[in-house]
Amino acid sequence: MRDFYAILGIETGASAGDVRRAYRKLARKFHPDINPGNAAAAERFSRIAEAYEVLCHPRKRDYYDTHGYYDEGVLEEKQERRLGFSFDGFAGSESDKPVFSDLFEDFFAEIRSRRQPPVPIDLEAQVSLTFAESIRGVRTAVPVFRRRSCDDCRGLGRRPRTPAYACPTCTGSGEIVRSRGRLRFAMTCPECEGGGRVAAACVSCRGEGRRARSERVEVDIPAGVASGSRVRYAGRGDVDPKTGRTGDLIVVTHVDDDRFFERVGDNVHCTVPVSVSEASLGARIEVPGLDGALTLKVPPGTQSGQKLRLRGRGAPSLRDAEARGDLYVAIQVVIPRALDERSKEILRELGELNAVDREGRQARGR
Ligand SMILES: [Zn+2]
Ligand SMILES: [Zn+2]
Repeated sequence: MRDFYAILGIETGASAGDVRRAYRKLARKFHPDINPGNAAAAERFSRIAEAYEVLCHPRKRDYYDTHGYYDEGVLEEKQERRLGFSFDGFAGSESDKPVFSDLFEDFFAEIRSRRQPPVPIDLEAQVSLTFAESIRGVRTAVPVFRRRSCDDCRGLGRRPRTPAYACPTCTGSGEIVRSRGRLRFAMTCPECEGGGRVAAACVSCRGEGRRARSERVEVDIPAGVASGSRVRYAGRGDVDPKTGRTGDLIVVTHVDDDRFFERVGDNVHCTVPVSVSEASLGARIEVPGLDGALTLKVPPGTQSGQKLRLRGRGAPSLRDAEARGDLYVAIQVVIPRALDERSKEILRELGELNAVDREGRQARGR
């Protein structure tokens, strides 16, 4: 038979107060909520809870002391709903009081801190897009590791219909008593919500109330996203098991470089080759735009490197659905390699008619 005194680490003649103190101290250390996923701690805790169940109860303890064992039902008693817990027993010895209240405050603070800060429920995912997809928008499935409510415990974190043990916070009374000076007031225990007993943690979710699963969430990426854009999708994130609220999914977009277009803000830049005669005489040329070919008017005397603007032909703005940036077309004048005599003759003639000002050339060279 198990030695309940040894399990709680107390003497055979220990007082009721010592039993409670020992249980509380061990529960703080081995409680499954403090050691999620630790099977050894869970096993240890169930033995501690079992020992406490017997030793905290005067008649059960009596039976155990006499017979060396205790089985549920041997006393054939009407189960008291509440395990006798009197706070006064604790306060009886003045020297015990500060030690106890420290322990108690620590544990209570721990429970509170475990419950109070809202669990983060926004989920983030990265997605890679081609330049064309970023301009037009695209529907895509984003792989995420998403925490949904645990089916096995319906998000409660506790296994239904399992043996419950005495709540370690209130040692089964359902109430905690705080003292301030000579004043003493009772409040409902936050751990067991007054019931005095808590069920074992759900095995499937290890008491968290939610489980992570890999999922593909279908999202519509809006037109106009750039690298590093953050798009928020409400209600597609993790669930908060306490409140049942679902967070948002935030998709961070990465846009591949394009070999022709370059995006700067909502403006887009590209370079287009133009012949000497087109640049000199002016021309209407066809250039590739973001949504198909565009006609660009090259004015006479356009220089190489000059940028021509096509207003409203850039990337769609994420802030304003109606707005678009501009498309800047840099002109690259292609100098012909004169191979035949006829071309050379024309170029020489052209040179004579359009001599570059010598002074201007020197000024520029300086
Ligand atoms: Zn409690
Ligand atoms: Zn569960």
